[in-house]
Amino acid sequence: MESVADYKEIVDEIKANGGEAFARCYQCGLCDAVCPWNRFIDFSMRKIVRQATYGMTDIESEDIWRCTTCGSCPQQCPRDVGQIESGVSLRRLATEYGIFPNAVKPLRTVSASLSGAGNPLGEDRQTRADWGRDLSVKPFAEGMQVLYFSGCYLSYDPRLKKVARATAGILNTAGVDYGILGTKENCCGESIRKTGNEDLFKRLARENIKTFIDNGVKKIVVSSPHCYHTFKNEYPEFMVHFEVVHISQLLCELLEQGRLTLSKAFARKVTYHDPCYLGRHNKVYDDPRAILKRIPGLELIEMPESRENSLCCGGGGGRIWMETIKGERFSDLRVAQAVEAGAEVLATACPYCIANFEDSRLALKDEGALEIKDITEIVAEAL
Ligand code: SF4
Ligand code: SF4
Repeated sequence: MESVADYKEIVDEIKANGGEAFARCYQCGLCDAVCPWNRFIDFSMRKIVRQATYGMTDIESEDIWRCTTCGSCPQQCPRDVGQIESGVSLRRLATEYGIFPNAVKPLRTVSASLSGAGNPLGEDRQTRADWGRDLSVKPFAEGMQVLYFSGCYLSYDPRLKKVARATAGILNTAGVDYGILGTKENCCGESIRKTGNEDLFKRLARENIKTFIDNGVKKIVVSSPHCYHTFKNEYPEFMVHFEVVHISQLLCELLEQGRLTLSKAFARKVTYHDPCYLGRHNKVYDDPRAILKRIPGLELIEMPESRENSLCCGGGGGRIWMETIKGERFSDLRVAQAVEAGAEVLATACPYCIANFEDSRLALKDEGALEIKDITEIVAEAL
């Protein structure tokens, strides 16, 4: 049994890793009422907070790795406990000691790949720009108006490359003056930071920032809400400020300026899933919907859990790299909700959501009943 002194030491270590806010909790339980984990298993953020306050955290437990950083409970918490940042402090401790439960072990390979090749997928840095080779996608050069930062999954994943290609096609049609960094682009680092690997995040961020500055980048357009979040809200910690725009925001602007015309019908029933890092974390709810509403023939249906109450896909907080067993996958429930709402297409604007929904779609009784699409893919079809 540990002594009081040991617990005090753990409390101090948690505080030193950014978990001071745990002590503010008054155990109201509002976080547990909204946490999506409780649809599947018995999981309590309230309990994690209580244990951390008294230095009784079991850093070997998988529970400290479960939070997807979806942002639902911080928006409910009356004491500003900052469950996400505070929760990450526990992961920092576990990372420091090299303790990873089985479901979390893939993080070791992911970290090695991020360190060596700048992406979490174990892919070759030299092939990072291959997705746009036949599309007249230019390398970014000083003086260009926009850097299109495609991100890791859109650069390498066969399904998600289609989103990068649709985006490039739209930007070309609209006459946007843009380029990509290709082999010079690193992972943005958002998700690895949420796993507690702060050193690796800082390294990736510093390298990206240096590349942006060296190449004269001022405005960055991104497809991933995770890149959006970290460039906009976390990179300023390094005393830099770039104009950061999510593709849904740029598309809205281009449509309003008449630089894009949606002339072909997309006669399908579509529901839109708000990605946590675009919606709850950054309050971008209207732009993706405004785009979909402009598409001829498209019928937009809302799922009951939408906007600030959107159900997380399960991929945030580094969970995209961890094992989530069948019966515990949030995306299975979300896909079922889309079918229940009568949608033929589940549209979203995040690579993690698409990856998870594509997997869950295959588990449907009739996998052809629902298509998963990024909003840019729908726009590209309607041009
Ligand atoms: S909502 Fe906030 S104050 Fe209430 S139990 Fe959760 S962490 Fe504690
Ligand atoms: S941020 Fe989301 S997943 Fe994490 S504990 Fe809160 S409600 Fe649960």
